[in-house]
Amino acid sequence: MSVSGKPPYDPANIFARILRGEIPCKRVREDDHALAFHDINPQAPVHVLVIPKGSWVSAADFHASAPAEAIAGFWRLVGAVAAELGLEERGYRILSNMGEDAGQEVAHFHVHIFGGRRLGRMVPPGAA
Ligand code: 5GP
Repeated sequence: MSVSGKPPYDPANIFARILRGEIPCKRVREDDHALAFHDINPQAPVHVLVIPKGSWVSAADFHASAPAEAIAGFWRLVGAVAAELGLEERGYRILSNMGEDAGQEVAHFHVHIFGGRRLGRMVPPGAA
């Protein structure tokens, strides 16, 4: 942890490398603010990741630190991707894992877009 309590951003993380073009991805859509691409290990018929083009480790970091224009641009791309993939009529789920309890694997803020089937419960059953 840094002095501020925010984990430092590691520019060697896998999504930073995808943004720099060092690792290929199956791109869905891209603009000045964000990149959307298919998850390498899909959990639903549609499973797309959307990442902002900046150095934010998590949802908490992004929403606290990113400029308003970057936040608006990011969420506009999320909506555009869901529409482009034909998910609006039957619906879809947006999810972002933040930190250890949520099992965040990649420390570059991202949201998952899931769709293409009934997605079931929001959170697997367990002790509340
Ligand atoms: P998290 O658990 O951090 O919310 O999700 C990370 C996601 O990134 C996982 O669903 C995982 O399958 C995906 N992922 C990890 N490495 C790669 C990669 O190199 N390419 C792509 N397209 N997805 C990846």
